[in-house]
Amino acid sequence: MSDPKFKHPESLMMSHGYKPELSEGAIKCPIFQTSTFVFENAEEGKGFFEIAYGLREKGPSEEMGLIYSRLNNPDLEILENRLCLWDEADDCAVFESGMSAISTVMMEFLNPGDYILYSNPTYGGTYHFVKNVLSRFGIHAVAFHAHEPEEKIDEIIKAHGIADKLKMIYIETPANPTNQLVDIEACRKVADRLSTDEDRVYLAVDNTYMGPLWQHPLKHGADLVLYSATKYIGGHSDVIAGAVLGNFEVIKRVKTLRTFLGNMAGPWTGWLLMRSLETLKIRMTEQAKNAQKVAEFLQSHPKVGKVHYLGFLTEKEDPANYAIFKRQLSSPGAMISFEIIGGEKESFRFLNALKLIKLAVSLGSTESLAEHPSTMTHSDVIPEDKVLYGITDSLVRLSIGVEHYEDLIRDCEDALAAV
Ligand SMILES: *Cc1c(COP(=O)(O)O)cnc(C)c1O
Repeated sequence: MSDPKFKHPESLMMSHGYKPELSEGAIKCPIFQTSTFVFENAEEGKGFFEIAYGLREKGPSEEMGLIYSRLNNPDLEILENRLCLWDEADDCAVFESGMSAISTVMMEFLNPGDYILYSNPTYGGTYHFVKNVLSRFGIHAVAFHAHEPEEKIDEIIKAHGIADKLKMIYIETPANPTNQLVDIEACRKVADRLSTDEDRVYLAVDNTYMGPLWQHPLKHGADLVLYSATKYIGGHSDVIAGAVLGNFEVIKRVKTLRTFLGNMAGPWTGWLLMRSLETLKIRMTEQAKNAQKVAEFLQSHPKVGKVHYLGFLTEKEDPANYAIFKRQLSSPGAMISFEIIGGEKESFRFLNALKLIKLAVSLGSTESLAEHPSTMTHSDVIPEDKVLYGITDSLVRLSIGVEHYEDLIRDCEDALAAV
């Protein structure tokens, strides 16, 4: 596809997988707004279907043809090829939302009677799906807390007596909203101990917070890496989408279920995300740079208590998290949460006084966003768990964008003055 001498994904985001000669020489991939594709002849149609339905293996020089946009579409296929470069994955499946990517993976790899072990806190939609939807299909869930080490995870599995029923470990790291880290390699070891030759315990990692730039879970032993592409990948707060990456075997299964659930992304979504990927690295790099400046400002402010920012981890104060950070992440990222001295009233004063930073949930976009986890994104977390995860009434979460950091700091400074 691309010349192998160009190795950096950011160099290939404008061209990889696209052949201008197939589209009138257009430099950009057009939006293939079409539901179906014309076969040259009946024999070709037959051949495409044989491969699509797995009736025979693809020949060595054969390319999978286009059939129908629920199965494949150029805007999706090219996007999927480009996403593979960041995580060095064999294959990728793109979805119409992060939740459809997550739910499809869980439905494909879990059966009635199986258990899923997940890290808590986890994204609210994921938590709801595991608790209220999977349970209706006889799939049970057990949680561990993001800060718990490998031995403790083993203990939890033992205490629940689920060693032979556990089929998936599902983690989110860093955990939202306090940036607690989960050790991917440790989870791989737990999964391997419970896997047999014919029955693998799959490890799935929601990499929305750090990917695809700063953390590559497949390299640490994950089988599946999942994204809400609504966040950094899309990056402009204008599209909802999701993605799953892994080896050919697992993604083939995911794509097959996607075909029958019909929750693939449409061509417009594919096109928007291709456009976003061209600036992914410069956006995320700038966002991380800004986040460090804002975090440093917040930490020095008298009205601010603890600042949860991965750049402040030290070996001395938190050796366990520091070791995971060093191994797993190449940047502290651009998500910050912090405590305002006081409670809900003080947090709300701050949020209501912000001008440049918008008061909204979601994250990873070009514009900075602020929200109050306890009453917004995490409002359905039970009170005991809120205490455990540090989701207090005084906690505010910031997603840092690409504005000038001086203006972001000015906005925070003025809003803190209003508290
Ligand atoms: C937003 C989000 C999701 C859900 O993605 P949607 O695109 O909104 O469906 C899943 N996981 C994490 C960590 C998220 O932030």
